[in-house]
Amino acid sequence: EDRAVGQVTSAQANFMTVVVERAGAPDDGLREEGFRAGIKLLCVVRALLKKIRRRVMVGDSVLVSGIDWTDKRGMIEDVLQRRSETSDPPVANVDLLLVLFSLDRPRLDPVILNRFLVEAESTGIPLAVVLNKADLVTQEMKDSWEKRLTEWGYKPYICSVETGMGLHDMAPLLEDKTSVVFGPSGVGKSSLINFLRGKSCLPPDDIQALDEVDDEVIRVNEVSYRTGSGRHTTRHVSLLHLPFRGAMLADTPGFSYPSLSMVTINSLASLFPEVRARLEKSEFSCGFADCQHISEPDCVVGGDWERYPYYVSLWNEVHKREEHEKAVFGTKQENDMRFKVRESGVKQAEPMLELKRHRRTSRRQVRQMVDSDVREQRDEQREL
Ligand code: GDP
Repeated sequence: EDRAVGQVTSAQANFMTVVVERAGAPDDGLREEGFRAGIKLLCVVRALLKKIRRRVMVGDSVLVSGIDWTDKRGMIEDVLQRRSETSDPPVANVDLLLVLFSLDRPRLDPVILNRFLVEAESTGIPLAVVLNKADLVTQEMKDSWEKRLTEWGYKPYICSVETGMGLHDMAPLLEDKTSVVFGPSGVGKSSLINFLRGKSCLPPDDIQALDEVDDEVIRVNEVSYRTGSGRHTTRHVSLLHLPFRGAMLADTPGFSYPSLSMVTINSLASLFPEVRARLEKSEFSCGFADCQHISEPDCVVGGDWERYPYYVSLWNEVHKREEHEKAVFGTKQENDMRFKVRESGVKQAEPMLELKRHRRTSRRQVRQMVDSDVREQRDEQREL
């Protein structure tokens, strides 16, 4: 009765909001309209999870215990295994990366686009390329970019947030997924998020409860800015419900400049769909088992593909970085070693916690914890 599994939709200060599905709760046809009928709870994180440094992220599936359904409070007791995770912005269980560029203003630069594509591929999360500001360019320009990207192995969505063109085509793409928008500045990331957010809404039942909960969280957050205590330094990110079936979108875009920190020279080739296709299609393997596909003899990938010069340039950059790391650390950096190549997402190394049924916290205790945290931070504000 007082436990449920839900998804963390925002994190601020010591609080997280978790949307849970409550068995038996009326869904008032909301599911039909594409919402996961849910109840939003304000939660604290169990001290044990903090102690063992088990991080709870927006997007995580969590087990909430000690739920007070009237006051909509609870405590996050455990985190279920993640399918994937992004670090910029920090979101767990991301199903889709929308790599957003503009066709003009700023002009689509293939070097920057490739860097973003490689960074996005390195997360192991499926991606879609969206080209915005179609209203600013000719049909020929749109066709030529579409053709070019198709040769690279992507099917671009061409749109204009300004005119609304092409945005409806994106709806099926977003359904039943948690998505994050990535791209350089000025391409329309905020405009796209705001466009989609403008159309987003929550189940009517939840609106009032949410307002109450969110007000509190916002006040708490203000305190932290004033005290500058460094206690609440997590970058703010929330998941928004979109008006498409099961669609969630992070309200904070990511990758202002891709660091390629997860890319290794051994994984680089697998981050280019056209190389993957050549390797899959070929009856033969490369002459060398550890072929880097940069002009070695008997390489089945070869150099007759458009992005080959970008590949070589990125290979040189990553190679240089790895050599430097070897010189400084004597070995590769840990995050290189943890890297897993695409498809099923980045797997977590840490094991799932056993559910400790015998160590449950009562509803009353949870309520007291949340309330005392809120009080404590209000007092801090008063002292100021
Ligand atoms: P961000 O830096 O990627 O978040 O980009 P913004 O959303 O702030 O947009 C940058 C500028 O591009 C703003 O002036 C927008 O009004 C403009 N913009 C966004 N989408 C479009 C579009 O589809 N067409 C045109 N012409 N301008 C757009």
